[in-house]
Amino acid sequence: MTTILEREVPIECAGEIQTLTLIAHYDSRLRKTVRWSVQGDAITVRIPPCVRRKEVDRILEDVISRVRRDRDRARQKRDRALQRQDADLQARARALNRLYFDGELTWRTIRWVGNMQRRLGSCTNGGPTDGDIRLSERIRSWPSYVVDYVIAHELAHRKFPNHSSAFWAYLARYPHMERARGFIEGVAFADGAVFEEDAGLAPADLPEAGGGNRPL
Ligand SMILES: [Zn+2]
Repeated sequence: MTTILEREVPIECAGEIQTLTLIAHYDSRLRKTVRWSVQGDAITVRIPPCVRRKEVDRILEDVISRVRRDRDRARQKRDRALQRQDADLQARARALNRLYFDGELTWRTIRWVGNMQRRLGSCTNGGPTDGDIRLSERIRSWPSYVVDYVIAHELAHRKFPNHSSAFWAYLARYPHMERARGFIEGVAFADGAVFEEDAGLAPADLPEAGGGNRPL
């Protein structure tokens, strides 16, 4: 592959300037179609040799405007997710309770909080704050089935305040449990982060083999 050019491209997204590196190559394996991809901060464009040099600039401008549009869309999607309000949480918790737990669970409040980093959710059982469910704002923009999983997880603690096998069997009524837990593991892996289970576990609740928290 012959490199045609490599340059920095400022892209504005919601008032912030991000600088991406644009790399364009001639790729003799391509016949007519231009291919491009974005990885991290690099945009790589592969151009078939039949394209004349003077057309390349137009193609690159086109690619840059597509990247800009994609980023704008992703941003808008995130903003919409951020608008999920506490009232929505309450409605979703009610719906999950009705759909999967026969409407048998009760709680007092459910709300987003900004001070949980490692924990995704929490639920108090007993005491003056009995039935307060909190979800970390960190997960606010995550897919709905994952947010629903975390809500269902905290709701299920209203019946089983531990992580016993009975708890997991009960929570498995939520049909996307495994998929959601896979998503959470994937995010944790990609970030090099460790997400803790919601509350500290009583020793009796530790998984039989291995010990330690079963990560959310
Ligand atoms: Zn839990």
